Amino acid sequence: MTLVAISKTHDTSMILPALDAGQQVFGENRVQEAAAKWPPLKARYPDVELHLVGPLQTNKARDAVQLFDVIETVDRPKLALVLAREMAKLDRRPKCYVQVNTGKEAQKAGLHPADADAFITVCRDTHGLPIAGLMCIPPADEEPSLHFALLKKIADRNDLGEISMGMSGDFEIAVQFGASHVRVGTAIFGARG
Ligand SMILES: *Cc1c(COP(=O)(O)O)cnc(C)c1O
Repeated sequence: MTLVAISKTHDTSMILPALDAGQQVFGENRVQEAAAKWPPLKARYPDVELHLVGPLQTNKARDAVQLFDVIETVDRPKLALVLAREMAKLDRRPKCYVQVNTGKEAQKAGLHPADADAFITVCRDTHGLPIAGLMCIPPADEEPSLHFALLKKIADRNDLGEISMGMSGDFEIAVQFGASHVRVGTAIFGARG
């Protein structure tokens, strides 16, 4: 089980103590913010693994491929295509997770669960993306277990070993339901300002 320390909104002075304590896996939700904070930190701590956990616009795909080691939010065909192109150009292949909208919420990114298998196949076979796992953000007002169980089921039937689910409020439940990665911000760094 891997703890992804979500350091969004926190500056370097907050992140350094975590790095010095040995934490190596971090997550950010904005490409621009991460591009401002992380290059010097990555130079100093070369074993850091940086995850993108927020929505990715195609015009930021190049920067994302350059900076991140895992892109957790692959969620539409156009983005898959652009990521594949940028990976080829930059000769860099960060691992990708497909985001699944397990709650089928209109305002939330991610594949409808019924469309996930087909999309994973297109990402792998048409675009050759290194799809390693799935991620989800369950609806805030629902019991998360059913969502975690659904994500695990989709991962298993697609032979995907990395399952990113669970945040500060529900990571224990996510682990019980098979998370390989939990994304925890507030419980590590405190409330965001
Ligand atoms: C901010 C964020 C987290 C961390 O949330 P906390 O409740 O602070 O632990 C996890 N995942 C995503 C996608 C986020 O944007």
